[in-house]
Amino acid sequence: MLVFLSLGANLGNREQTLQQAIDLLRAEVGTVLRTSSFFYSEPWGFASEHTFCNLCVAIETPLSPLDLLHATQHIEQRLGRTHKSTHRDYQDRTIDIDILLYGNEHIQTPELTIPHPLMNERDFVMTPLNEILNSLNSKLS
Ligand code: AMP
Repeated sequence: MLVFLSLGANLGNREQTLQQAIDLLRAEVGTVLRTSSFFYSEPWGFASEHTFCNLCVAIETPLSPLDLLHATQHIEQRLGRTHKSTHRDYQDRTIDIDILLYGNEHIQTPELTIPHPLMNERDFVMTPLNEILNSLNSKLS
């Protein structure tokens, strides 16, 4: 299945952490087809002096949606994330991985909402996502 993920980091060596996350995605999730450029943005939904570095990746994965979620959560933990946000109590984080799209599927379960419900509101998601969608489309046409 072709899936699109959003990765973000706003603590530590952000670019290095994101690169490590991409390496772990390659090892544990599937074939990384595209990675966008880095996109820098101010924190969304909370105040912090630490700017975010974001990017999107396109991956071909054999994993089910739930297995994909658990794999990305495992990678977040390995890279030092200690706190899961609940009820939108956003805060600084070394790494955050969101599942944006899982093929054309619509999923609504207690653990997963796909397409990601806030993706359209977020430039730091849509700008890098459009970059890799354009790149995939130009290869197909
Ligand atoms: P986070 O924003 O990474 O702290 O995620 C908080 C919770 O969002 C996780 O425990 C997931 O179960 C849930 N969640 C719902 N939909 C998604 C999605 N599309 N991608 C990642 N996490 C999701």
